[in-house]
Parts: sequence; structure tokens; C-alpha cells
Amino acid sequence: MKVSVIGGGLGGLLAGAALSKDHDVHIYEQLEIYGGRFTNLPYKGFQLSTGAFHMIPHGPTGPLASLLRDVGANVDIVKTNPEATFMTKDLKQIPFRDFNELLSAASRSRIPALVMRTVTHKKGNVADMVWNDPEWLAIADSCCGWALSTTAQNTPASEAVAILTTTRKYGTPGVPMGGCKGVVDALADVIESNGGSVSLNSKVDSIMVEDGKAAGVVVGGERISSDIVISNIGHKLTSRLYDGKYLEPKYAGVINKVRPSAGIKIVLAAEEPLVGHPAAMFTPYTQRVNGINEVSHIDPSLAPEGMHLTMSHQTMRTPDVQKEIELGLQDLKNLFPGKKYSVLMVQSYRDDWPVNRISSGFDLGNLTPVRGLFVVGDGAKGKGGIEVEGIALGVRNFLDIFDK
Ligand code: FAD
Repeated sequence: MKVSVIGGGLGGLLAGAALSKDHDVHIYEQLEIYGGRFTNLPYKGFQLSTGAFHMIPHGPTGPLASLLRDVGANVDIVKTNPEATFMTKDLKQIPFRDFNELLSAASRSRIPALVMRTVTHKKGNVADMVWNDPEWLAIADSCCGWALSTTAQNTPASEAVAILTTTRKYGTPGVPMGGCKGVVDALADVIESNGGSVSLNSKVDSIMVEDGKAAGVVVGGERISSDIVISNIGHKLTSRLYDGKYLEPKYAGVINKVRPSAGIKIVLAAEEPLVGHPAAMFTPYTQRVNGINEVSHIDPSLAPEGMHLTMSHQTMRTPDVQKEIELGLQDLKNLFPGKKYSVLMVQSYRDDWPVNRISSGFDLGNLTPVRGLFVVGDGAKGKGGIEVEGIALGVRNFLDIFDK
């Protein structure tokens, strides 16, 4: 079967690699690099990234690691130790599991009830789930902000419950050696060694549809026929590439309603360890920053010798990007007084280059109104899958549909 893939991000590369053993796979990427929001940008000896924090939410035991192994992509993923920490109000770190130390006696007394709610509370949002208790909300906001780039208020309780279930099942985070690029390079190698191709500077201008079925893609004016088309660019952008007469009104209504999650990443060149370990350090007591990591403790090649790559993340709370960035920079000054570091890069992620194309809990699955046209990537994450783990679960769902 001939397969065209629109976009060489992680979703497109995963689906392409999985099919390339038995099918003729061709990936078309508009940029001069593949990897989308999951690859490296070399700068001043650091391996910055186009998006992700060089972190895989469930490490070597999660859905992404398992799919990488199944498709034959050789990636070394190292678990972080500790699994995560919290920074307290007086700037000390405590292990994630000791979160109760952050709480007053009154808020702590709600722990048994909250444990019950993390199993049964499937309606409303996470803020409701924690009774809008300000102490619990600070913790919930920093976790939702770091892991999903949303607030507790904007995270459905059902998705949080599903995420807790997958976390119990798959375990804690890890860092791929070589950073994000280590993962996407391994996938591109699999595709090419199976006879497939990844064409760069190749923007797909439209999707050919015949009798309601995908028939191929048009790239730079060239019509390329294929048996199926897989899109890695989300439902909404995909729908703009084919004739609007195929858009079912209900589907059109839904894809125009769902929203991406937006965020800001501030990257620091640290002359001394700031976090002191590779895991996520959650920061509940800031104005904006939700968490920070320093993955060069696991892979020193991500920073120049003797230095560290330190990255903070914050969800976008208001549309005033400049103001949000200023508040984030102020947080970092307050968190690391007297430490030696400089700001390497500030990136904001929204619109068509967001943190998540569809905010967690609102994903739309792989199917489209056009037969033989499927969506993969972070507009089609699997239930309970954080970030790239959701992408891997979504690609598994697609492969199940494809096999039937
Ligand atoms: P993309 O990476 O967006 O890939 C789509 C590709 O399609 C792009 O390369 C694009 O150029 C191409 N394209 C678009 N239109 C066309 C066209 N018409 N023709 C051809 N090509 C086209 N996840 C984690 O698991 N861990 C993290 O630490 C983490 N941190 C993050 C931090 C930030 C700041 C951000 C922004 C994201 C983070 N994520 C993280 C999320 C993760 O990076 C994304 O979910 C993931 O990379 C999205 O992959 P994708 O394949 O779905 O989409």
C-alpha cells in the first residue's frame, strides 16, 4: 500500500515508521528539518529544542518507549532520579511524594477524600475536584501547567483521573539520550532503512479526494497518488486541505470549537546547577512559572562542558504575551537569587505552533469525514496520555483501525 504522510513531526514519524516495514511510506515536511516541535536547535553549544523539554513523561516504561521498540527505533531513555520535586515557599526542594508537607493541617485532612475523588470524580474540572481549596489549587495548577500547559480550571477531571491511571501503570519520566532529536533521528532512520522517504521543504498544498476517499496529496503542484493519507497537522488544518463539501457539519462544529494549549518556555544557560537534578521541579508559589527541569544532568551533551541547560515552563494565563514573559522572568529571579545564569532564549507557543494542538482531554481521535484520511499527533492523543505519550497512544489507536 502506498502511504502519504503530511508533516514530519513525532506523530507522522511514528505512524510512518510503524507502517514502513510493510508499506511504501512517504513523509512530506514543509520545513527544512523534520521533528516538528520535538527536535533540537543547536545554539552556543546548547541543544535547545523546537518545543519539548527533552522529556518523555513515562520514560523507558511508557507507551512511547514501547512503540519505539516495536517499530525498531533504537533510543536510550534514562529515568529521572528523583521522579520529581516541589519547591517550597522558602525555596527548599522536597520530594514529590512528600507534597503533604506543603499543606496546612486543614488542607492535609482532605487527603483521604481526594484520593477517593481521583478514582471516582469524573465530572467537572480539576479545580472542582480539589474543592477550589487555594492550597490544593496551587499544587494542581503547577502540575497541570507543567504537564499539560493548562490550568486546573481548564483540565477536565476525567482526563486527570485517566492520567493518574496511566501514570500508575507506566511509571515516571525519562530523558532520551541526545534529547528530542535522538528520538526523531531514530524514527527517520527506520523509515529510510525500510525503503520509505522523508522529503524536506515539501509543503502539502492539498489533499486529493475522489468519491469521498483520500487519493493522495499535492506537493508543490505535483499530484502524488496514494492509497491512504495520514495527517500530522491536526484536524482543523487538515480540513483546510480538502474540498469543503466533504466537511460534515457536526465535525466542522467540533474542530472549530476545540482549542490548543499555549505556553511559554524560558531557557537558561546555567553556570552552576540551579535545579540540581534532571527531574521536573514543580513551582506552586510563583506568579507564572509552573515547573523547571535541568536535563543536562542525564545527558551532559545537551550543554557545553561544565554548564547546564535549565528550562522553565508556564501556561499562558492571559493573551498579553509580553507581560506573561516578564512575570516568568521575574519568577526565575526570585527562585534563583544570586545564582549564575543567563537567559538563552524565550519562546512562546500558541495558534498553529502550540504546546498541544488540542488541549488534553478534548482530543478528537484519528478518523475524519474523508475515508482513508487519518489524523495522528497531538490533535489525536489517546485518552490519559500526557503529551508525547498521548501521541504514541493515539498512533496505536490509528494502527488498530488501520489493521481492521
Ligand atoms: P508537530 O511537531 O507540530 O509536527 C507537525 C509537522 O507538520 C511540523 O513539522 C510542521 O512543520 C509540519 N507541517 C505542517 N503543515 C504542513 C504541510 N501543509 N505540509 C507539510 N508539512 C506540514 N511533550 C513531551 O512529551 N515532553 C515535553 O517535555 C514536552 N514539552 C513541551 C514544551 C513545549 C514548550 C511545547 C511547545 C511542547 C512540549 N511537549 C512536550 C509537547 C510535544 O512537543 C508535542 O506534543 C509534539 O512534539 C507534537 O508532535 P506532532 O507530531 O503532533 O506535531
